[in-house]
Amino acid sequence: MEALFQLTSDIGSIIIVMDQQFGILNINEENEMNQNLLGVELRSTTEQALSEFHNRNIKILILVPQDILPQDQIQKLKEFLPYANEIIFIKEDLETTFSKIAENPGYMPEQTVFVAADRILRSIAVDKGYTALPHISIASLSIKKAAICFAKITGDEKLLQGIKDLVPYYLERYEKDQIMLLAITSYEAIANIIARQLKVDILNYNFSVDDVMFVSLDHIDDTTKDKIMKLKIIFSDGKRILVSLPSSVSNDSVPFHDKHGHFLFLNPDPTLLKPVSTPSALLMAAETSFKKWPLKKAKLVPITDQESLLMLTSTENPSQPSSIKSYIDRYTGISNLDNQGKIISRHCEHPDNRRVINRLVKDLRLMGYRPITYPFSYRNKNLLNVIADLPGRGYFKSEPDISENIRQVFLQYPSITPSDQWIREITDIVGKDWLIEQNLEGLSPLELRKKLNEIFFKNSTWWIRESPLEGLESQTIIVCGHLDSTANLESIYNQLVDPAPGTDDNCSGLAALLSIAKYLSQFRGKLTHTIRFCFFNAEEVGLHGSREYASYLKDKDTQIKAVINLDMMGFNNDENRTFEIHAGYSDPVIRDRCVPLAELIKRWSDKLGKVGPAQIYKGTLQGNDSDYDRDVYDGAIRRSDHYSFQAHGYPSIHISEDFFANLPVEPGKDRNPNYHRFADKRIDNSYVADIVNAATFAIKELASK
Ligand SMILES: [Zn+2]
Repeated sequence: MEALFQLTSDIGSIIIVMDQQFGILNINEENEMNQNLLGVELRSTTEQALSEFHNRNIKILILVPQDILPQDQIQKLKEFLPYANEIIFIKEDLETTFSKIAENPGYMPEQTVFVAADRILRSIAVDKGYTALPHISIASLSIKKAAICFAKITGDEKLLQGIKDLVPYYLERYEKDQIMLLAITSYEAIANIIARQLKVDILNYNFSVDDVMFVSLDHIDDTTKDKIMKLKIIFSDGKRILVSLPSSVSNDSVPFHDKHGHFLFLNPDPTLLKPVSTPSALLMAAETSFKKWPLKKAKLVPITDQESLLMLTSTENPSQPSSIKSYIDRYTGISNLDNQGKIISRHCEHPDNRRVINRLVKDLRLMGYRPITYPFSYRNKNLLNVIADLPGRGYFKSEPDISENIRQVFLQYPSITPSDQWIREITDIVGKDWLIEQNLEGLSPLELRKKLNEIFFKNSTWWIRESPLEGLESQTIIVCGHLDSTANLESIYNQLVDPAPGTDDNCSGLAALLSIAKYLSQFRGKLTHTIRFCFFNAEEVGLHGSREYASYLKDKDTQIKAVINLDMMGFNNDENRTFEIHAGYSDPVIRDRCVPLAELIKRWSDKLGKVGPAQIYKGTLQGNDSDYDRDVYDGAIRRSDHYSFQAHGYPSIHISEDFFANLPVEPGKDRNPNYHRFADKRIDNSYVADIVNAATFAIKELASK
């Protein structure tokens, strides 16, 4: 493929895989036998593109990955996707899938665009003669017959204002509005951008079938040149290379495995350029609530009791070394995980990864949570993040509880049609005058349901019957860590079968999350803000799971108050018990949002006096191994899941063991020599518990205000 891509023939149809770039399904899993589809949350770009294709008379076929929807629900799915002409399942055996597509008249390969996030699917489609593209927004650009290319744009972000046709893959912000943007864009837009005197490099990357990934060159030795020669290099800035990954290559088979977070996987993400919506102050929250609420039918009552703040004086320890140990044993293969016995790996491509997901869901349910899984495709598989909410009470409650009443109607009438009865019941709840006032009268039943959804349960897993709704104007606190492991520093490592205990990296974080979730579950219904526990998958192959999820939240305009990431927080081999809090980021404006979170955690660890002193890294430069000035450098920038949120502008920090360089006056760093090896089996459980305790009190304080 040339650097410039342009469709030559007229496109009559499009095949779109229902994956993370498309949207997610709201499925109520009351039990395995009874799974009910209650809605489809389309990404905003999908929404826009589908109506565009429909208006151009382009036929739309949706391919649904088999394990995300029960077969008997496909009829209902059609109701939620009125623009889809056909919906069929993807079989594991891709040959069958493609022969089923071929049976459908009107999807001739030479006139059809195939859209999938997964490069394996795209490369098969190309073999069958289709034009493949990685994202629906790129498809909608190219269907207009635009010549498109992959470009690196550097300069002042303000100069990009008003430029359309940008589908970003990566956005790096620096001081004074300077950016480096990697994006697919039209040649016309490029001309505009150049005319505005931004620097543009057009890069030779076959985005039709390949993906791209940054690989950090942390450790240069004699073999580096040989390793580089094996790769398709798109560019290098001296410290890292952007490599192109064909479908035959898995992300972590790229032969560089140095410091933590050496891989950063990229894919098209239109939300990167969207401004972040920062949590509003109470007064503004009140205004928003009052503006949209059916005040004739219900009154809004401020929640004023101070109960949650009083709880902060409690002195008990949220976590004990023994409880950390029991989670560690279960999730590293020391004790049984399930009735199949012990696991040997949590690697995202290892079969045990799915067992870990199932067990996490079970553990969280036993604590009273109603976890959901967030799917994303990777190498012809659906990987899952596990997400569990402790819903916040918010600043107001509604009397009677209108949101809950509406939800009950939706649960009772999962189908859009017939619509008379459910619309009548909704009208009784909110009042006809309110529907008129909000311009909801006369909408199609599907549109009406969508709007009600946005107004009443914006950030709640409303479709899960037992899951309580979030209170009004509640904000979200993300507490996260990655669940996957790897042993890719071993000279011979097959991720599909070999062990990867990952006790420090990152069962320590996983055990910490479970421990915090367990302790905080007793405050259900008492905290102002929602605490959302996120167990991210596929971090080791380029922060994949957190990237997909952060983008999803950004698209939904979720108000994120804080992100606290726990990764590698168990190794402690020396006398001192220092640990690290990483708030650094290349853009000082975003960094300044992160630092107060780090300071809050440090205040709690100082107060409890068991671990520390906490070292706060707040530099804007990533630096080298020996760079110790924490005000200038932060070696963890872009190296763990907190980055996926910083990239969108959210306040986000990362807590870890004493991994990076210390000041000359301090004791030396205490780096885990077993990192990414079969021998990553040793951690200090009481050190983990003491860091967890400081973090837990900080999280509770954040959630109470
Ligand atoms: Zn890790």
